[in-house]
Order: sequence, then C-alpha cells, then structure tokens
Amino acid sequence: MLETRAYAATDPRSPLGPFSLHRREPGPHDVQIEIDWCGVCHSDLHQARNEWGGATYPMVPGHEIAGRVARVGAAVTKLRPGDLAGVGCFVDSCRACEPCRRSEEQYCERHTAFTYSSTEMDGVTVTQGGYSTRIVVDENYALRLSDALPLEVQAPLLCAGITTWSPLRKWKVGPGQRVGVVGLGGLGHMAVKLAASLGAEVTLLSGSPQKRADAHRLGAHEFILSSDARALAVRERTFDFVIDTVSADHPIEPFVKLLRTDGTLVLVGAPEKPLALPAMAILLRRRSVSGSLIGGIRETQEVLDHCAAHKIGADVEVIRIEQINEAYERLLKSDVRYRFVIDIGSLRG
Ligand code: NAP
Ligand code: ZN
Ligand code: ZN
Repeated sequence: MLETRAYAATDPRSPLGPFSLHRREPGPHDVQIEIDWCGVCHSDLHQARNEWGGATYPMVPGHEIAGRVARVGAAVTKLRPGDLAGVGCFVDSCRACEPCRRSEEQYCERHTAFTYSSTEMDGVTVTQGGYSTRIVVDENYALRLSDALPLEVQAPLLCAGITTWSPLRKWKVGPGQRVGVVGLGGLGHMAVKLAASLGAEVTLLSGSPQKRADAHRLGAHEFILSSDARALAVRERTFDFVIDTVSADHPIEPFVKLLRTDGTLVLVGAPEKPLALPAMAILLRRRSVSGSLIGGIRETQEVLDHCAAHKIGADVEVIRIEQINEAYERLLKSDVRYRFVIDIGSLRG
C-alpha cells in the first residue's frame, strides 16, 4: 500500500483538514500518477457538505487531477513513466453495458466508480480524490495531457472543460448559431471559450456586472445582466442553445424564453434544490430542457486534444492546500477568476 498525504472533509459542517490515505500498489493494468495540480470544482463543495445526499466520510474531494506517471503495471500500453497524465470524474465502470461500449462511462448502467465519495467496482472500496499527492488508476480511465500548455490550466478541462464540451458537441453547436451561457464560474468560463472556439456567437448571462469585461476577453460577443429584464425581453426567441452552469437555486424561465422554436436549454449546474420548470415557456415553442453529466473517456480526450491544438486553457487562481476552505467560501460568493487550482506541492510540505 502507498501511504499518501491528503486533505479530507470529515463531516458536512467541519472545514477540510490534513488526512492520510492508502493507495493500492499498481496492478498490471494500473498507472500510478504523482499529482501536481488539482482543480476545485463547485461539485467538491456540494459533496463535502453533503448537499446532494449520499456523501461518505472521510472524503478527499478533487476530480480535476493533473500530474506525471511514476509507475505503470506490466500490461499497460497507453502511458509510460514520465508522461503527463490526468484523471477526471470517474475511475472505473462496468465496461460491458451499452453506454460503456459507446465510451459514455458516466452513464454506465451498472455502476460508475466516481473519483471520490463513491466505491470501486467491488462496491466496497471507497474512492478518494485528487486533494492528495498520488492516485492509482486503471490505464483506460487515465487521460493523456499535453506539453503544449501548462499543466495547471489543463487540470480544469477534466471536469469543467468536458462538462461543457459534451453538450456543445451533442447539440452540434457551431458557426452561425447563437449560444447563451448562464453563469461565469469554472464551468461557465470554459463554456464561453469552447463555444467560441467552435465558431458560435456567444452571449454571457451573468448576475455579476463586474464580470462584463472578462466575459468579452474570454470570447463572449455579448454580455447581459441576468437581472436586466428589458435586455432579456429584446433577445427572446433568438437563441439556438443555452447552457446553464449556475450552482444555486434560480429561475430558468427567462433563459428558456431566449430560445427559438425547438431550441434547447441544457442544465449542467446541479443546485441542491429542484428548479421550477416553466411549462408554458417550454411547450409554446416546442423547446427542450435537458441535462448533461460530465463526459466519457473518449470525449474527454477529445476536448483535451482540442484545447491543446487551439491553446485553450482554464483561467486559474493557484492556491495552496491550506487555502481550500477559504476557496470554498469564495465559490459561494461567485468570487473565482475562474477556477481555483491547488498546487499539490503545498501538500508534500
Ligand atoms: P462556480 O465556479 O462556483 O460557478 C457558478 C456560477 O454560477 C457563479 O460564478 C455565478 O456566476 C453563478 N451563480 C452562483 N450562485 C448564483 C445564484 N444564487 N444565482 C445566480 N447565479 C449564481 O461553479 P462550477 O464549478 O462552475 O459549477 C457550477 C455547477 O455545475 C455546480 O452546481 C456544480 O456542481 C455543477 N457541475 C455539474 C457537472 C455535470 O456533470 N453536470 C460537472 C461539474 C460541475 P455569475 O457571477 O456569472 O452569475
Ligand atoms: Zn466537477
Ligand atoms: Zn457500464
């Protein structure tokens, strides 16, 4: 067993603090990754505080993991020691069901072994995430990272990047389309960058007036304050697609009304409480409201490769591990520009 330093939540109310865990020795198909960076997703906060239910403690959050391969098992072919590698939101799945065979492992019909607050496929061994110095994972669930971009700006692609990329691809967003992005945080800023890189005309819908200049810098063509009812009314029925990244309770009707006939609003934000579904706004123009969960391994590699080719990284604020509780408080105030990334060196001491 590999003794590994980490930071953990021990219950829904206490701050995270130092913790020690054991990683398995790499088996024939495993890679051992020494972690250098781990992004801080709002989902880490939701789960550390058990806002979705089912949390298991002690919990080491973190599913935007970037580092370097230290060791590989005898049968591994995808990665070699010294390679840059990452782990996203899950570390295994059944590999046999329909979604798994399509490389949509996040929708596995049997069990997706999420990176933390979940179990391995045995249903017993608890998984622990990337606020730690190393991880051991089956090579099929590790991703190749690029040397074309700093590693810390690639880490957030493993959740914020793929979570916004997957619906943009599923709904075939491209040139000539008008896309709305609701909320400018970790996911929102990646949605703006990625939709713009696909050629769409992007409007940022935000509750924070001070983010206007950043929205344009990130690639948005237009900025609308979500509280500006008049500006929203003028844009009704003009959007092809809206992606809603908001982490807290909020009305979706103003954003549904932006859609043309047959347009789709995809929820990727996962607020603690149910959202109100505006029936009239949906049925009047045969609009759809859908959801989307992260993305599969093949598509995650696709977004990583797309970002390396187009030099797209996240805008990051690097923090030390001791700052994680403060970072969570800032996330709750929509005060992140635009992803906190933990320098895991600070955990090695
Ligand atoms: P984040 O960085 O905290 O950003 C959330 C943004 O939502 C904020 O920056 C803010 O943008 C807006 N917002 C926050 N509170 C709000 C409120 N009360 N009313 C209106 N807008 C508000 O969070 P994130 O890491 O991007 O994650 C966003 C959500 O997606 C979380 O719920 C997370 O759990 C979820 N998520 C889902 C998936 C998936 O697979 N579907 C994957 C990852 C994360 P403005 O200041 O611009 O308004
Ligand atoms: Zn996440
Ligand atoms: Zn499966």
